[in-house]
Amino acid sequence: MQLQLVVLGSGQDGGTPQVGSAAPTTSRTASSIAVLADDVRLLFDASPDLRIQFQLLPTVDRSELLVDAVFITHCHMGHYTGLAHFGREAANTNQIPLYGSPSVVEVLETNEPWASLFRRGNLRAHPMDDVVHLGRLSVRRIPVPHRAELSDASAFSIAVDERPWLLYLPDIDAWDEWPQAERVLSSHELCLLDATFGSPDELPGRDMSSIPHPFVEETIARFGHLSARTMMLLGHINHSNPLNDRSSRLFRRAVAAGFVVAEDGMTISRQA
Ligand SMILES: [Zn+2]
Ligand SMILES: [Zn+2]
Repeated sequence: MQLQLVVLGSGQDGGTPQVGSAAPTTSRTASSIAVLADDVRLLFDASPDLRIQFQLLPTVDRSELLVDAVFITHCHMGHYTGLAHFGREAANTNQIPLYGSPSVVEVLETNEPWASLFRRGNLRAHPMDDVVHLGRLSVRRIPVPHRAELSDASAFSIAVDERPWLLYLPDIDAWDEWPQAERVLSSHELCLLDATFGSPDELPGRDMSSIPHPFVEETIARFGHLSARTMMLLGHINHSNPLNDRSSRLFRRAVAAGFVVAEDGMTISRQA
């Protein structure tokens, strides 16, 4: 089986450039990935940039479903509002399973315009406690601490024949609040991690304690020793992050420590 990760979006929820800002040299759409196996197409997060992001995937004709399943990490705007494209205005979306924590599914089922997608049969709700099996693939939901506003938040672990392959963890408040971080990361071949901010001073005038994320320097210091065995991609990158500049000290330091700075369209494949 050919297994493929496609990074659909490597940016924070607002993308780069953010609305109203000048275009930088690096552009990023909001965080999302696709996992493609022989005959399965899974979407993790439905970003507001979904229509553009799907240009990175093989096309489907009108008789095929847009995706076989969609998994939503949490209800912040960059991660679920692309579900707007799952309605009758767009592609073939008949009874597509939507997986998320019970809290995520409840938010979607009880608020418009998302609730209509379930009523009209575009989506089918699957509150997810633990693991979903999809042929040789399985997807495990792992709760993570992240500002529980509309919903709680999760990471997703994708396994092949029960062996963990990919961890998708776009948002977390702090590594210290998730004691099992090192054990979970090191059990995967590939991790796509929250690398929203490079340093505490990169958003002048904003109280960054209200939008907590681990800083990239800390992530490198904590998990750099895992990079020999686990490929670690840095994603969910904010427009202000020095990782957007390949000549920055932080970018060079991340690469030297064995990390890979994710980009939109980046593809990683292997036989399974
Ligand atoms: Zn986010
Ligand atoms: Zn978030």
